[in-house]
Amino acid sequence: MPLSIRWRLTIGIAAAIIVTLIVILVTLRLALGGILEGDLDDDLSRDTGLVSAHVALLGSLEDRDKVQELVDGLSVGGPGAGFIVVIRDSEGEALASAAGIPAGSLGLTQAEIETVLRGKTLSRTVTIGEDERIRVRTSRLSIGREVAGIVQVGEDAELTSHPLDRLQTVLLAEGIGGVFLALIIGYWLARGAVRPLQRVIDVAAEIEASDLSRRIGARSSPAEVQALAETFDAMLERLDAAFQQQRNFVLDMSHELRTPLTALRGNIDVLLMDEALDAETRSHLERMSAEVGRMIRLASNLLYLAHAETGRIPDSRPVELDVLCLEVYRQMKDLRPDIRFRLGHEDQVTVQGDRDLLKQAVLNLVDNSLKYTPAGGGVTLSLYHDAGQARIEVKDTGPGISPEQIPLIFKRFYRAGGDRRTTGGAGIGLAISDWIARAHGGEIQVSSELGKGSTFTVVLPVDGHTAI
Ligand code: ADP
Repeated sequence: MPLSIRWRLTIGIAAAIIVTLIVILVTLRLALGGILEGDLDDDLSRDTGLVSAHVALLGSLEDRDKVQELVDGLSVGGPGAGFIVVIRDSEGEALASAAGIPAGSLGLTQAEIETVLRGKTLSRTVTIGEDERIRVRTSRLSIGREVAGIVQVGEDAELTSHPLDRLQTVLLAEGIGGVFLALIIGYWLARGAVRPLQRVIDVAAEIEASDLSRRIGARSSPAEVQALAETFDAMLERLDAAFQQQRNFVLDMSHELRTPLTALRGNIDVLLMDEALDAETRSHLERMSAEVGRMIRLASNLLYLAHAETGRIPDSRPVELDVLCLEVYRQMKDLRPDIRFRLGHEDQVTVQGDRDLLKQAVLNLVDNSLKYTPAGGGVTLSLYHDAGQARIEVKDTGPGISPEQIPLIFKRFYRAGGDRRTTGGAGIGLAISDWIARAHGGEIQVSSELGKGSTFTVVLPVDGHTAI
Protein backbone atom coordinates (compact mmCIF):
# COMPACT_ATOMS: atom_id res chain seq x y z
CA MET A 1 0.00 0.00 0.00
CA PRO A 2 1.40 3.44 -0.85
CA LEU A 3 2.35 5.68 2.06
CA SER A 4 -0.29 8.27 2.96
CA ILE A 5 0.43 12.00 2.45
CA ARG A 6 0.20 12.35 6.23
CA TRP A 7 3.08 9.95 6.84
CA ARG A 8 5.11 11.27 3.91
CA LEU A 9 4.91 14.81 5.35
CA THR A 10 5.73 13.61 8.86
CA ILE A 11 8.71 11.54 7.75
CA GLY A 12 9.87 14.37 5.47
CA ILE A 13 9.84 16.88 8.34
CA ALA A 14 11.70 14.47 10.63
CA ALA A 15 14.30 13.71 7.94
CA ALA A 16 14.84 17.44 7.32
CA ILE A 17 15.42 17.97 11.05
CA ILE A 18 17.87 15.06 11.29
CA VAL A 19 19.89 16.31 8.29
CA THR A 20 19.93 19.88 9.67
CA LEU A 21 21.10 18.57 13.03
CA ILE A 22 23.93 16.54 11.50
CA VAL A 23 25.07 19.55 9.45
CA ILE A 24 25.01 21.80 12.56
CA LEU A 25 26.96 19.20 14.57
CA VAL A 26 29.67 18.73 11.96
CA THR A 27 30.03 22.49 11.37
CA LEU A 28 30.18 23.21 15.10
CA ARG A 29 32.77 20.50 15.68
CA LEU A 30 34.96 21.78 12.89
CA ALA A 31 34.66 25.48 13.78
CA LEU A 32 34.83 25.12 17.56
CA GLY A 33 37.55 22.46 17.34
CA GLY A 34 39.73 24.89 15.38
CA ILE A 35 39.12 27.73 17.83
CA LEU A 36 39.83 25.59 20.91
CA GLU A 37 42.98 24.14 19.37
CA GLY A 38 44.18 27.66 18.57
CA ASP A 39 43.58 28.67 22.21
CA LEU A 40 45.55 25.64 23.44
CA ASP A 41 48.42 26.44 21.09
CA ASP A 42 48.48 30.01 22.47
CA ASP A 43 48.70 28.58 26.00
CA LEU A 44 51.53 26.28 24.95
CA SER A 45 53.34 29.23 23.38
CA ARG A 46 53.15 31.08 26.68
CA ASP A 47 54.34 27.94 28.52
CA THR A 48 57.28 27.67 26.15
CA GLY A 49 58.19 31.27 26.93
CA LEU A 50 58.13 30.47 30.64
CA VAL A 51 60.39 27.44 30.25
CA SER A 52 62.78 29.39 28.04
CA ALA A 53 63.00 32.13 30.67
CA HIS A 54 63.83 29.60 33.38
CA VAL A 55 66.47 27.89 31.20
CA ALA A 56 67.99 31.30 30.49
CA LEU A 57 68.28 31.81 34.24
CA LEU A 58 70.07 28.46 34.50
CA GLY A 59 72.59 29.72 31.97
CA SER A 60 73.35 26.32 30.42
CA LEU A 61 72.03 22.79 29.97
CA GLU A 62 75.28 21.22 31.16
CA ASP A 63 74.05 20.20 34.57
CA ARG A 64 71.47 17.53 33.92
CA ASP A 65 70.28 17.39 37.53
CA LYS A 66 69.51 21.07 37.53
CA VAL A 67 67.70 20.74 34.23
CA GLN A 68 65.69 17.81 35.61
CA GLU A 69 64.96 19.82 38.75
CA LEU A 70 63.73 22.67 36.60
CA VAL A 71 61.56 20.36 34.51
CA ASP A 72 60.11 18.73 37.63
CA GLY A 73 59.42 22.12 39.11
CA LEU A 74 57.68 23.38 35.99
CA SER A 75 55.73 20.24 35.09
CA VAL A 76 52.38 20.25 36.78
CA GLY A 77 50.50 17.01 37.31
CA GLY A 78 51.64 14.69 34.58
CA PRO A 79 50.00 13.20 31.58
CA GLY A 80 46.29 13.94 31.52
CA ALA A 81 46.52 16.47 34.32
CA GLY A 82 48.08 19.52 32.76
CA PHE A 83 51.38 20.98 31.80
CA ILE A 84 54.45 18.81 31.01
CA VAL A 85 57.93 19.70 29.85
CA VAL A 86 60.69 17.80 28.00
CA ILE A 87 64.08 19.38 27.33
CA ARG A 88 66.43 17.96 24.72
CA ASP A 89 69.89 18.85 23.55
CA SER A 90 70.47 20.03 20.03
CA GLU A 91 70.85 16.39 18.82
CA GLY A 92 67.33 15.69 20.04
CA GLU A 93 68.58 13.61 22.99
CA ALA A 94 66.28 14.00 26.03
CA LEU A 95 68.06 15.76 28.91
CA ALA A 96 65.09 15.87 31.23
CA SER A 97 61.46 15.00 31.01
CA ALA A 98 58.44 15.39 33.22
CA ALA A 99 57.63 12.49 35.54
CA GLY A 100 55.60 9.74 33.85
CA ILE A 101 56.43 10.90 30.35
CA PRO A 102 58.74 8.49 28.58
CA ALA A 103 60.88 10.87 26.56
CA GLY A 104 60.66 8.51 23.60
CA SER A 105 56.92 9.02 23.34
CA LEU A 106 57.47 12.59 22.26
CA GLY A 107 60.34 11.54 20.02
CA LEU A 108 61.40 13.56 17.03
CA THR A 109 62.70 12.49 13.66
CA GLN A 110 65.96 13.87 12.37
CA ALA A 111 64.10 16.02 9.88
CA GLU A 112 61.92 17.44 12.63
CA ILE A 113 64.94 18.19 14.78
CA GLU A 114 66.53 20.09 11.94
CA THR A 115 63.34 21.99 11.22
CA VAL A 116 62.98 22.99 14.86
CA LEU A 117 66.64 24.00 15.15
CA ARG A 118 66.12 26.23 12.14
CA GLY A 119 63.62 28.14 14.25
CA LYS A 120 60.33 26.61 13.23
CA THR A 121 57.77 25.53 15.81
CA LEU A 122 55.98 22.18 15.48
CA SER A 123 52.55 21.61 16.98
CA ARG A 124 50.96 18.13 16.99
CA THR A 125 48.77 15.88 19.06
CA VAL A 126 50.30 12.62 20.32
CA THR A 127 48.86 9.71 22.26
CA ILE A 128 50.69 8.49 25.32
CA GLY A 129 49.97 5.16 26.93
CA GLU A 130 46.44 3.89 26.33
CA ASP A 131 44.53 6.96 25.34
CA GLU A 132 46.19 10.05 26.83
CA ARG A 133 46.09 12.62 24.09
CA ILE A 134 48.55 15.45 24.51
CA ARG A 135 49.00 18.54 22.39
CA VAL A 136 52.75 19.13 22.13
CA ARG A 137 54.56 22.24 20.99
CA THR A 138 58.19 21.67 20.03
CA SER A 139 60.49 24.65 19.58
CA ARG A 140 64.08 25.77 19.72
CA LEU A 141 65.64 26.57 23.12
CA SER A 142 68.09 29.45 23.15
CA ILE A 143 70.34 30.78 25.85
CA GLY A 144 71.34 34.28 24.92
CA ARG A 145 72.13 34.17 21.22
CA GLU A 146 73.18 30.50 21.34
CA VAL A 147 70.89 27.60 20.34
CA ALA A 148 71.02 25.37 23.42
CA GLY A 149 68.59 22.62 22.57
CA ILE A 150 64.92 21.80 22.07
CA VAL A 151 62.00 22.31 24.41
CA GLN A 152 58.73 20.40 24.23
CA VAL A 153 55.75 21.65 26.17
CA GLY A 154 52.52 19.66 26.31
CA GLU A 155 49.04 20.07 27.62
CA ASP A 156 46.13 17.70 27.81
CA ALA A 157 44.49 17.66 24.35
CA GLU A 158 41.24 16.58 25.91
CA LEU A 159 40.88 20.20 26.91
CA THR A 160 39.77 20.85 23.36
CA SER A 161 37.74 17.70 22.75
CA HIS A 162 35.95 17.60 26.12
CA PRO A 163 33.76 20.65 25.50
CA LEU A 164 33.07 19.41 21.97
CA ASP A 165 32.05 15.96 23.22
CA ARG A 166 29.76 17.51 25.80
CA LEU A 167 28.26 19.84 23.24
CA GLN A 168 27.73 16.90 20.92
CA THR A 169 26.00 14.87 23.65
CA VAL A 170 23.71 17.76 24.53
CA LEU A 171 22.92 18.50 20.89
CA LEU A 172 22.25 14.82 20.15
CA ALA A 173 19.94 14.46 23.15
CA GLU A 174 18.11 17.64 22.17
CA GLY A 175 18.09 16.49 18.55
CA ILE A 176 16.47 13.13 19.36
CA GLY A 177 13.90 14.94 21.50
CA GLY A 178 13.41 17.42 18.66
CA VAL A 179 12.88 14.66 16.12
CA PHE A 180 10.24 13.04 18.32
CA LEU A 181 8.55 16.39 18.83
CA ALA A 182 8.74 17.05 15.10
CA LEU A 183 7.19 13.64 14.41
CA ILE A 184 4.29 14.36 16.74
CA ILE A 185 3.77 17.96 15.57
CA GLY A 186 4.35 16.98 11.94
CA TYR A 187 1.82 14.17 12.14
CA TRP A 188 -0.69 16.45 13.81
CA LEU A 189 -0.16 19.24 11.25
CA ALA A 190 -0.26 16.83 8.33
CA ARG A 191 -3.44 15.28 9.65
CA GLY A 192 -5.02 18.72 9.83
CA ALA A 193 -3.87 19.48 6.30
CA VAL A 194 -5.17 16.21 4.90
CA ARG A 195 -8.50 16.16 6.75
CA PRO A 196 -10.35 18.34 4.19
CA LEU A 197 -9.08 15.97 1.51
CA GLN A 198 -10.50 13.01 3.43
CA ARG A 199 -13.87 14.80 3.46
CA VAL A 200 -13.72 15.13 -0.33
CA ILE A 201 -12.92 11.39 -0.58
CA ASP A 202 -15.81 10.48 1.74
CA VAL A 203 -18.37 12.57 -0.12
CA ALA A 204 -17.08 11.34 -3.49
CA ALA A 205 -17.40 7.73 -2.29
CA GLU A 206 -21.00 8.35 -1.23
CA ILE A 207 -22.01 9.69 -4.63
CA GLU A 208 -23.68 7.01 -6.72
CA ALA A 209 -24.59 6.95 -10.37
CA SER A 210 -28.25 7.00 -9.36
CA ASP A 211 -27.81 10.25 -7.45
CA LEU A 212 -25.43 12.59 -9.18
CA SER A 213 -27.15 15.65 -7.76
CA ARG A 214 -24.84 15.77 -4.71
CA ARG A 215 -21.95 18.18 -4.66
CA ILE A 216 -18.81 18.26 -2.54
CA GLY A 217 -18.66 22.00 -1.84
CA ALA A 218 -15.69 22.16 0.57
CA ARG A 219 -16.00 25.98 0.82
CA SER A 220 -13.89 26.58 3.96
CA SER A 221 -11.13 24.14 2.95
CA PRO A 222 -7.59 25.09 1.93
CA ALA A 223 -7.29 26.56 -1.59
CA GLU A 224 -5.91 23.37 -3.20
CA VAL A 225 -8.64 21.17 -1.73
CA GLN A 226 -11.26 23.71 -2.73
CA ALA A 227 -9.91 23.68 -6.29
CA LEU A 228 -10.06 19.89 -6.29
CA ALA A 229 -13.63 19.91 -4.96
CA GLU A 230 -14.69 22.49 -7.56
CA THR A 231 -13.13 20.45 -10.38
CA PHE A 232 -14.84 17.35 -9.08
CA ASP A 233 -18.17 19.17 -8.77
CA ALA A 234 -17.87 20.47 -12.34
CA MET A 235 -17.23 16.90 -13.51
CA LEU A 236 -20.28 15.70 -11.55
CA GLU A 237 -22.32 18.45 -13.19
CA ARG A 238 -21.32 17.19 -16.64
CA LEU A 239 -21.87 13.56 -15.67
CA ASP A 240 -25.28 14.37 -14.21
CA ALA A 241 -26.29 16.16 -17.41
CA ALA A 242 -25.00 13.26 -19.55
CA PHE A 243 -26.84 10.66 -17.43
CA GLN A 244 -29.99 12.76 -17.54
CA GLN A 245 -29.75 12.98 -21.31
CA GLN A 246 -29.16 9.25 -21.62
CA ARG A 247 -32.12 8.50 -19.31
CA ASN A 248 -34.39 10.80 -21.28
CA PHE A 249 -33.21 9.22 -24.51
CA VAL A 250 -33.93 5.69 -23.20
CA LEU A 251 -37.32 6.84 -21.91
CA ASP A 252 -38.28 8.44 -25.23
CA MET A 253 -36.94 5.63 -27.37
CA SER A 254 -38.52 2.80 -25.40
CA HIS A 255 -41.81 4.68 -25.40
CA GLU A 256 -41.56 5.35 -29.14
CA LEU A 257 -40.74 1.68 -29.78
CA ARG A 258 -43.44 0.21 -27.60
CA THR A 259 -46.37 2.00 -29.21
CA PRO A 260 -45.89 0.82 -32.81
CA LEU A 261 -44.73 -2.63 -31.66
CA THR A 262 -47.90 -3.10 -29.61
CA ALA A 263 -49.99 -2.00 -32.61
CA LEU A 264 -48.05 -4.41 -34.82
CA ARG A 265 -48.67 -7.33 -32.48
CA GLY A 266 -52.37 -6.39 -32.26
CA ASN A 267 -52.61 -6.53 -36.04
CA ILE A 268 -50.79 -9.86 -36.22
CA ASP A 269 -53.14 -11.25 -33.58
CA VAL A 270 -56.14 -10.03 -35.62
CA LEU A 271 -54.72 -11.80 -38.68
CA LEU A 272 -54.26 -14.95 -36.62
CA MET A 273 -57.98 -14.97 -35.80
CA ASP A 274 -58.72 -15.81 -39.40
CA GLU A 275 -59.84 -19.45 -39.41
CA ALA A 276 -59.08 -19.80 -43.11
CA LEU A 277 -55.30 -19.29 -42.68
CA ASP A 278 -53.18 -22.10 -44.04
CA ALA A 279 -50.84 -23.79 -41.58
CA GLU A 280 -47.63 -22.28 -42.95
CA THR A 281 -48.89 -18.66 -42.89
CA ARG A 282 -50.22 -19.25 -39.36
CA SER A 283 -46.84 -20.56 -38.24
CA HIS A 284 -45.08 -17.52 -39.78
CA LEU A 285 -47.49 -15.12 -38.16
CA GLU A 286 -47.16 -16.84 -34.77
CA ARG A 287 -43.38 -16.56 -34.94
CA MET A 288 -43.70 -12.90 -35.90
CA SER A 289 -46.04 -12.31 -32.98
CA ALA A 290 -43.58 -14.01 -30.59
CA GLU A 291 -40.64 -11.94 -31.85
CA VAL A 292 -42.63 -8.72 -31.66
CA GLY A 293 -43.66 -9.73 -28.12
CA ARG A 294 -39.99 -10.14 -27.18
CA MET A 295 -39.18 -6.72 -28.61
CA ILE A 296 -42.05 -5.20 -26.64
CA ARG A 297 -40.70 -6.81 -23.43
CA LEU A 298 -37.23 -5.46 -24.16
CA ALA A 299 -38.59 -1.96 -24.83
CA SER A 300 -40.62 -2.19 -21.60
CA ASN A 301 -37.56 -3.29 -19.64
CA LEU A 302 -35.63 -0.31 -20.99
CA LEU A 303 -38.49 1.98 -20.04
CA TYR A 304 -38.65 0.55 -16.52
CA LEU A 305 -34.88 0.75 -16.21
CA ALA A 306 -35.15 4.50 -16.80
CA HIS A 307 -38.04 4.61 -14.33
CA ALA A 308 -36.01 2.74 -11.71
CA GLU A 309 -33.19 5.26 -12.10
CA THR A 310 -35.46 8.25 -11.75
CA GLY A 311 -36.98 6.67 -8.62
CA ARG A 312 -40.46 6.06 -10.05
CA ILE A 313 -43.01 5.14 -7.40
CA PRO A 314 -45.23 2.29 -8.62
CA ASP A 315 -49.01 2.57 -8.52
CA SER A 316 -50.75 0.95 -5.60
CA ARG A 317 -53.95 -0.67 -6.83
CA PRO A 318 -55.36 -4.17 -6.27
CA VAL A 319 -53.83 -6.65 -8.70
CA GLU A 320 -55.33 -10.12 -9.12
CA LEU A 321 -52.23 -12.21 -9.53
CA ASP A 322 -54.09 -15.33 -10.75
CA VAL A 323 -55.53 -13.34 -13.66
CA LEU A 324 -52.11 -11.81 -14.28
CA CYS A 325 -50.45 -15.24 -14.38
CA LEU A 326 -53.07 -16.49 -16.80
CA GLU A 327 -52.40 -13.52 -19.07
CA VAL A 328 -48.67 -14.17 -18.96
CA TYR A 329 -49.27 -17.82 -19.75
CA ARG A 330 -51.50 -16.99 -22.73
CA GLN A 331 -49.04 -14.43 -24.01
CA MET A 332 -46.06 -16.74 -23.81
CA LYS A 333 -47.46 -20.19 -24.48
CA ASP A 334 -46.67 -20.20 -28.19
CA LEU A 335 -43.18 -18.82 -27.81
CA ARG A 336 -41.46 -22.21 -27.59
CA PRO A 337 -43.58 -24.98 -29.08
CA ASP A 338 -40.63 -27.36 -28.56
CA ILE A 339 -40.85 -27.28 -24.76
CA ARG A 340 -43.73 -28.06 -22.39
CA PHE A 341 -44.92 -24.79 -20.85
CA ARG A 342 -47.85 -25.18 -18.46
CA LEU A 343 -49.69 -23.60 -15.59
CA GLY A 344 -49.15 -25.42 -12.29
CA HIS A 345 -50.73 -24.77 -8.92
CA GLU A 346 -52.94 -21.64 -9.07
CA ASP A 347 -54.27 -19.99 -5.89
CA GLN A 348 -56.35 -16.83 -6.00
CA VAL A 349 -54.36 -13.90 -4.64
CA THR A 350 -54.73 -10.15 -4.81
CA VAL A 351 -51.89 -7.80 -3.89
CA GLN A 352 -51.57 -4.04 -3.91
CA GLY A 353 -49.28 -2.78 -6.61
CA ASP A 354 -48.58 -1.71 -10.15
CA ARG A 355 -50.14 -4.17 -12.58
CA ASP A 356 -47.89 -3.32 -15.54
CA LEU A 357 -44.75 -3.60 -13.48
CA LEU A 358 -45.74 -6.87 -11.80
CA LYS A 359 -46.68 -8.39 -15.14
CA GLN A 360 -43.34 -7.33 -16.58
CA ALA A 361 -41.53 -8.98 -13.64
CA VAL A 362 -43.27 -12.32 -14.28
CA LEU A 363 -42.90 -12.01 -18.07
CA ASN A 364 -39.14 -11.56 -17.66
CA LEU A 365 -38.84 -14.72 -15.52
CA VAL A 366 -40.97 -16.81 -17.89
CA ASP A 367 -39.13 -15.38 -20.88
CA ASN A 368 -35.78 -16.44 -19.35
CA SER A 369 -37.01 -19.95 -18.56
CA LEU A 370 -38.35 -20.37 -22.07
CA LYS A 371 -35.20 -18.90 -23.52
CA TYR A 372 -32.65 -20.97 -21.60
CA THR A 373 -34.47 -24.31 -21.38
CA PRO A 374 -33.43 -26.63 -24.20
CA ALA A 375 -35.94 -28.34 -26.50
CA GLY A 376 -37.86 -31.14 -24.82
CA GLY A 377 -37.68 -29.47 -21.39
CA GLY A 378 -40.48 -28.04 -19.30
CA VAL A 379 -41.47 -24.73 -17.71
CA THR A 380 -44.18 -24.41 -15.06
CA LEU A 381 -45.79 -21.19 -13.85
CA SER A 382 -47.50 -21.52 -10.44
CA LEU A 383 -49.06 -19.17 -7.91
CA TYR A 384 -49.26 -19.89 -4.18
CA HIS A 385 -50.86 -17.94 -1.37
CA ASP A 386 -49.45 -18.82 2.01
CA ALA A 387 -48.48 -17.12 5.28
CA GLY A 388 -49.47 -13.63 4.09
CA GLN A 389 -47.36 -13.99 1.00
CA ALA A 390 -48.06 -14.41 -2.69
CA ARG A 391 -45.47 -16.62 -4.39
CA ILE A 392 -45.28 -16.62 -8.19
CA GLU A 393 -43.03 -19.52 -9.10
CA VAL A 394 -41.38 -20.08 -12.48
CA LYS A 395 -39.77 -23.50 -12.57
CA ASP A 396 -37.76 -24.84 -15.47
CA THR A 397 -35.67 -27.84 -16.41
CA GLY A 398 -33.03 -25.67 -18.02
CA PRO A 399 -29.24 -25.62 -17.59
CA GLY A 400 -29.33 -24.20 -14.06
CA ILE A 401 -27.09 -21.48 -12.61
CA SER A 402 -23.93 -22.02 -10.55
CA PRO A 403 -24.06 -20.79 -6.90
CA GLU A 404 -21.28 -18.22 -7.61
CA GLN A 405 -23.32 -16.67 -10.40
CA ILE A 406 -26.60 -16.40 -8.53
CA PRO A 407 -25.73 -13.10 -6.75
CA LEU A 408 -24.47 -11.67 -10.06
CA ILE A 409 -27.39 -12.40 -12.35
CA PHE A 410 -29.47 -9.61 -10.76
CA LYS A 411 -26.87 -7.02 -11.68
CA ARG A 412 -27.63 -4.84 -14.65
CA PHE A 413 -26.17 -5.97 -17.97
CA TYR A 414 -24.80 -9.19 -16.42
CA ARG A 415 -25.18 -12.24 -18.64
CA ALA A 416 -23.92 -15.53 -17.27
CA GLY A 417 -23.38 -17.23 -20.60
CA GLY A 418 -21.93 -14.09 -22.12
CA ASP A 419 -22.90 -15.28 -25.56
CA ARG A 420 -25.47 -12.92 -26.99
CA ARG A 421 -25.83 -14.73 -30.29
CA THR A 422 -27.10 -18.01 -28.88
CA THR A 423 -29.81 -16.67 -26.57
CA GLY A 424 -30.31 -12.99 -27.25
CA GLY A 425 -31.05 -10.58 -24.42
CA ALA A 426 -29.54 -7.50 -22.87
CA GLY A 427 -28.89 -8.68 -19.31
CA ILE A 428 -31.43 -6.32 -17.75
CA GLY A 429 -34.49 -8.59 -17.34
CA LEU A 430 -33.62 -9.93 -13.90
CA ALA A 431 -32.38 -6.54 -12.67
CA ILE A 432 -35.75 -5.01 -13.59
CA SER A 433 -37.75 -7.90 -12.07
CA ASP A 434 -35.72 -7.59 -8.90
CA TRP A 435 -36.30 -3.82 -8.73
CA ILE A 436 -40.06 -4.36 -9.30
CA ALA A 437 -40.30 -7.03 -6.57
CA ARG A 438 -38.41 -4.85 -4.08
CA ALA A 439 -40.43 -1.75 -5.00
CA HIS A 440 -43.46 -3.79 -3.92
CA GLY A 441 -41.91 -4.78 -0.60
CA GLY A 442 -41.06 -8.24 -1.87
CA GLU A 443 -38.10 -10.06 -3.34
CA ILE A 444 -37.06 -12.67 -5.89
CA GLN A 445 -35.76 -15.98 -4.60
CA VAL A 446 -33.70 -18.35 -6.72
CA SER A 447 -32.92 -21.99 -6.27
CA SER A 448 -30.98 -23.70 -8.97
CA GLU A 449 -28.96 -26.78 -9.65
CA LEU A 450 -26.55 -26.98 -12.54
CA GLY A 451 -27.80 -29.39 -15.19
CA LYS A 452 -31.19 -29.82 -13.51
CA GLY A 453 -33.01 -26.51 -13.70
CA SER A 454 -33.89 -23.33 -11.86
CA THR A 455 -36.81 -21.99 -9.89
CA PHE A 456 -37.33 -18.24 -9.70
CA THR A 457 -39.98 -17.08 -7.21
CA VAL A 458 -41.44 -13.59 -6.90
CA VAL A 459 -42.46 -13.21 -3.26
CA LEU A 460 -44.90 -10.38 -2.54
CA PRO A 461 -46.58 -9.30 0.70
CA VAL A 462 -50.37 -9.67 0.74
CA ASP A 463 -51.04 -7.33 3.66
CA GLY A 464 -52.44 -4.60 1.49
CA HIS A 465 -49.60 -2.13 1.17
CA THR A 466 -46.42 -1.70 -0.81
CA ALA A 467 -43.14 -0.97 0.85
CA ILE A 468 -42.69 2.34 -0.91
P1 ADP B 1 -30.73 -11.88 -20.26
O1 ADP B 1 -31.68 -13.00 -20.15
O2 ADP B 1 -31.18 -10.80 -21.16
O3 ADP B 1 -29.33 -12.31 -20.51
P2 ADP B 1 -31.38 -11.49 -17.49
O4 ADP B 1 -31.09 -10.34 -16.55
O5 ADP B 1 -32.77 -11.86 -17.67
O6 ADP B 1 -30.67 -11.15 -18.85
O7 ADP B 1 -30.57 -12.76 -16.95
C1 ADP B 1 -29.24 -12.64 -16.56
C2 ADP B 1 -28.53 -13.97 -16.72
O8 ADP B 1 -29.04 -14.93 -15.79
C3 ADP B 1 -28.75 -14.63 -18.07
O9 ADP B 1 -27.76 -14.19 -18.98
C4 ADP B 1 -28.61 -16.11 -17.78
O10 ADP B 1 -27.26 -16.49 -17.86
C5 ADP B 1 -29.04 -16.23 -16.36
N1 ADP B 1 -30.41 -16.78 -16.25
C6 ADP B 1 -31.55 -16.10 -16.03
N2 ADP B 1 -32.61 -16.93 -15.97
C7 ADP B 1 -32.11 -18.18 -16.19
C8 ADP B 1 -32.73 -19.47 -16.23
N3 ADP B 1 -34.05 -19.65 -16.08
N4 ADP B 1 -31.92 -20.53 -16.43
C9 ADP B 1 -30.58 -20.36 -16.59
N5 ADP B 1 -29.96 -19.16 -16.56
C10 ADP B 1 -30.71 -18.08 -16.35
